[in-house]
Amino acid sequence: MEKLIALTFDDGPNVKITPQVLDILEEYGAPGSFFLVGEQITEETIPVIRREIAMGCDIGNHSYTHGHMNEMPIGETLDELRRTEEKIKPLTGKDSIFFRPPFFDYNEEMLEKVDFCFITGQACEDWDESVTKEQRIEKIMSQACDGAIVLLHDLHYNDITVSMLGEVITLLRNDGYRLVTLTELFEKKGVDPKSAAARGKVYEVVA
Ligand SMILES: [Zn+2]
Repeated sequence: MEKLIALTFDDGPNVKITPQVLDILEEYGAPGSFFLVGEQITEETIPVIRREIAMGCDIGNHSYTHGHMNEMPIGETLDELRRTEEKIKPLTGKDSIFFRPPFFDYNEEMLEKVDFCFITGQACEDWDESVTKEQRIEKIMSQACDGAIVLLHDLHYNDITVSMLGEVITLLRNDGYRLVTLTELFEKKGVDPKSAAARGKVYEVVA
């Protein structure tokens, strides 16, 4: 049985790090899934998103302002998601299926009322500049398993993740993993992320 793993990137788009991440994914022929922050979708960054889409990457919703949604009134949370969708949909031509709550912060009310498939994932603390390249790689490889969703960040200052990405792809492939988008991961695992059962459910690994 082939082992599958999905590399996902949060907190873009930006014009500094996101294009470098895309360069590496392109060079290695590896797909990625990107969770976008609505307020960062601007005239300047839209070409970067168009490139993600052209490369076959998945696009997901990561809120509008990257706040702590578990502390917001539900109406505000829904409004954030809607505003981000209004920017994503003209680019992708479809409603997003996947939502990653910022900081993995969510509550019962969100699971009930937010009509998305919730994605968390295996983190390697790559938002923290004090975490070295070696520590990030070690964390990713020690957690990796079939069906895993790996959480990375194309944050505007994240040169360290750019510097390790090619090596991570090679190490995962050497361990027998095939890199897939979230859409393909769910499809191959026989889970329909649009189904009522998957909406409002949280996935770190798709078993
Ligand atoms: Zn984030």
